[in-house]
Amino acid sequence: MLAVAFQGPERVELVEKPDPELLAPDDAIVRITASGVCGSDLHIYHGHVQVEPGFTIGHEYVGEVVAAGDGVTSVAVGDRVLGTFLVGCGTCWFCRHGEFHKCDHGRTFGHGAGLGDLQGTQAELTLVPHANMTLRRVPEGLADDVALFAGDVMGTAYHAIVEAGMRPGDTVAVLGLGPVGLCAVQVALAAGAAHVIAVDAVEERLAVARSFGAHAVHLTEEDPRAAVKELTEGRGVDVAVEAVGDPRALDMALRMARKCGTVSIIGVHAARTEVHMGLAWIKSLKIVGGQANVIAHLDPVLALLASGRIDPSPLVTHHMPLQDAPHAYEIYDRREALKIVLTP
Ligand code: ZN
Ligand code: ZN
Repeated sequence: MLAVAFQGPERVELVEKPDPELLAPDDAIVRITASGVCGSDLHIYHGHVQVEPGFTIGHEYVGEVVAAGDGVTSVAVGDRVLGTFLVGCGTCWFCRHGEFHKCDHGRTFGHGAGLGDLQGTQAELTLVPHANMTLRRVPEGLADDVALFAGDVMGTAYHAIVEAGMRPGDTVAVLGLGPVGLCAVQVALAAGAAHVIAVDAVEERLAVARSFGAHAVHLTEEDPRAAVKELTEGRGVDVAVEAVGDPRALDMALRMARKCGTVSIIGVHAARTEVHMGLAWIKSLKIVGGQANVIAHLDPVLALLASGRIDPSPLVTHHMPLQDAPHAYEIYDRREALKIVLTP
């Protein structure tokens, strides 16, 4: 089969690999029909996340089950399925408490030996462990492009809003309008937010947020904090979502949140960051954050997608054949695309 392999910083290549085989009774093999290129793939692309040369990358996927072990009961050969970007064992202490994203034996697709040695999904075929938990049938009528958001980007956005305890009538600020931020705008509105203030410095992204119903505010050409004050009688927002992974965005989120409000950090932070703790303390802010529990959110997110209450299809800016993956990474790296879907 053909697969997209990381070969070194800024170098991905199409390589021929042996077809994957079932290894455990609850494994499935999926023939991929669509696989997304994600912001976290760029961390690998630049060599910031260590992945062995030759490792297949990618972790967003939709496809058809072509083989399944005896222990796979929730999906069957021939089913059109989507899956989550990571897998959990289902039996460790964390899985038993529903914290599947912190599974002691968790493995992430396409992130090398360090994150569980699970080959990625930008390939013609992929091995899916613990298929009963990892995979779901794609609801009737849902396009591949939309379904593949359920296992990663939309599940992450859902986490940002739900973990923040957002309530109907709340005002929400979303800082950073990459795919996760834009999906967070949609989830907040679907969950009944009265207003969503969406902040970014890229005009195209602001336009997408506006089309979803957000108050789009340019980071530098307008005054985001003034916009927040105007919409909240000077109080600040009930929930501020930091969807960048940048200390400056985090600082702005702390300042935008109202007293006793919540800051939801869904952007990826990997280093020590200084925050104004005095501000957080005196405002009695609630701070939530971390990787999203996408396995736990998969069913409600899929239900929202199937009902059309949320629809990320405007985020899909490029469709490309799998063979063009090296070019896709170049385009994505230049921020010329929001979501690229690769088709084997
Ligand atoms: Zn991703
Ligand atoms: Zn586990």
